[in-house]
This record gives sequence, structure tokens and C-alpha cells, in this order.
Amino acid sequence: MSKRVSFLGMGIMGRAMAPHILEAGYELTVYNRNAEKTREIASKGAHVAATPEDAAKSGDVLICMLTGPEALEDVVFGERGLSGADLQGKIIVNMSSVAPAYNLQLASRLEESGAAFVEAPVSGSKKPAEEGNLVILAGGGDKVLEELEPLFLTMGKKVIRCGPVGRGAMMKMAINILLGTFIEGLAEMLNFGEKGGLSRDKLLDVVLAGPLSCDLFRMKEEMLRNEEYPVQFPLKHMAKDLKFAVDTAFENGSTMPTAHTIMQFYRRAVELGFGDDDFTAVGEALR
Ligand code: NAP
Repeated sequence: MSKRVSFLGMGIMGRAMAPHILEAGYELTVYNRNAEKTREIASKGAHVAATPEDAAKSGDVLICMLTGPEALEDVVFGERGLSGADLQGKIIVNMSSVAPAYNLQLASRLEESGAAFVEAPVSGSKKPAEEGNLVILAGGGDKVLEELEPLFLTMGKKVIRCGPVGRGAMMKMAINILLGTFIEGLAEMLNFGEKGGLSRDKLLDVVLAGPLSCDLFRMKEEMLRNEEYPVQFPLKHMAKDLKFAVDTAFENGSTMPTAHTIMQFYRRAVELGFGDDDFTAVGEALR
């Protein structure tokens, strides 16, 4: 496979993932709307493209790790967007978390360009991304996913092939329903206990000592004890993912009353000013 990779989106995740591609010996070009965020990776040897179109010209595999559909519309189809370049023979990889329907639509809109399209959203946050330990939830044709596997394994410890385009996004939405529910549930439990006179530390001690403990709760323990929520996965992104999940459930007929409720609550937490905190701050909004 070609060693020329372009990575579009140097947000929290992009900045943590892209260095692994460089370290593995690929020729890397990066693009970010706010060019400031490309500085660090440029100092390590990545080329910086001024526009998505330029990034598309410099790479054979074009990775997007952007907020969601609005960002993708701008970067792929906007002025000097990726689709302005000759995409014949290239591979476009959408690693952003979006609804399955949106990835299917992207794939069909890009079909005429001659590029192959795959999706590869990730399970894991900033720290696993920094450590190259993400789980990659791939959706697309077997042959192209096979070809991409070594590239994916620079960023992740495991690639799970979920099926054709749409299934990777479906897996990502499914995982985030559980993630959002776990953290919101823990936040409710802490709030309830504190209102009843128990200390937050004791409540956490009991959760973490018993059968309800899990890696996720242990990862968030420090934030919850200190009541400070430095961002890893922004709360506003959890709100958008739950919206995509709820929309998808409406289309596929699944019933998920809890996801509806917590979606509204995460959205309310954004309105209350917690959108740029880690999503664990949902408990502060409850308070
Ligand atoms: P982030 O830090 O908010 O970064 C978002 C990226 O999208 C930035 O590069 C931003 O550019 C770009 N962007 C947004 N709107 C744009 C537009 N209209 N035009 C061009 N670029 C635009 O988000 P992140 O945490 O890296 O997340 C990226 C994706 O991964 C999201 O889909 C998220 O749900 C998913 N994800 C995140 C985590 C996590 O723990 N953080 C974990 C798994 C999956 P600027 O810098 O110029 O704003």
C-alpha cells in the first residue's frame, strides 16, 4: 500500500493519532482549519497542507477525524475541499463518529470520484489514542480494509471489521449509548448519595471495591474525586453521538428510552456550559 497518508483534523484525537502514523514511516501530510494545531506534528516531520484539496493531492489514503457531518461537509465538499482534487484510486477513511446513514450517503456521493470509501470510527479516548491503543471499528469492503490494516494498527491495538460501510458507525453509536449511560448512571448515583449525606469519596470507594467497578469508572476516578473534568472526550460530542444514535433507532425501529432521556440531559449540560469539559462533567449539570 502507498505510504502517502493525509490526515485531516488535528483536534484532540487527530493530534494524538497522527504521530503514530509518522513514527511508523509513512509520509504524512496534515490539515487543520485552525493551522495552529498542526505546529507540533509539523515539528516532528509532517507536511502541512493549506487546504483540504492540497491535502488530498499529497496523500493516497485520506483520513478525516473531524467533529461530525457539518465539518465533513466543509472539508470534503466545501470550497477548496478534498473533493476538488482528483481522487481516482485514492482511499478516503472517515474516522469521525457519525450516524451510519451519513457514512452511507458520503460513500454514495463520493462514488463517482473513483475513490474507495471506508469508515473507521474508534473506541477509546485521548489517552488510548496517545498510546496507540484504540480499537478501530472498520466498515467497508474486505479487500480495502485488508490493505488498510497495517495503517490502522499504527493507531490502534485492534481492528474490528464490522461489515460494509454503515456497520462501523453503527458499532460506534452502540458503544457510545453504553458509555453515555454508564457515566450518567454513576453521576446520578453520586448525586443521590451526596444529597443523602454520604461523601463522594466513600461512594466511589464502594463502587470501585465491588462488582460494579470497571475500567471506565477507574479511568474517570480522578476526575470524579477531584471534581475537575479536563477534556478527553468533550461532552458536546457525547450529546451529538446520542442524537445520531437516537435518530438511527428511530429509523431501525429499536426501542431505547434511556438513550432518549440521557441524550436530552447531555444536551442540557451543553446548554449549561459544560460542552467543552470531559463528558464525565454530566454530574455537575445534574447538581
Ligand atoms: P475536537 O477536538 O473537537 O476536534 C474536532 C476537529 O474537527 C478539529 O480538527 C476541528 O478543527 C475540526 N472541525 C470542526 N468543524 C469544522 C469545520 N466546519 N471545518 C473544518 N474543520 C472542522 O474533537 P475530537 O475529540 O478530536 O473528536 C473527533 C471525532 O472523533 C469526533 O467525531 C468525536 O466524536 C470522535 N471521538 C472522539 C473521542 C475523544 O475521546 N475525544 C473518542 C472517540 C471518538 P478546528 O481545530 O479548526 O476547530
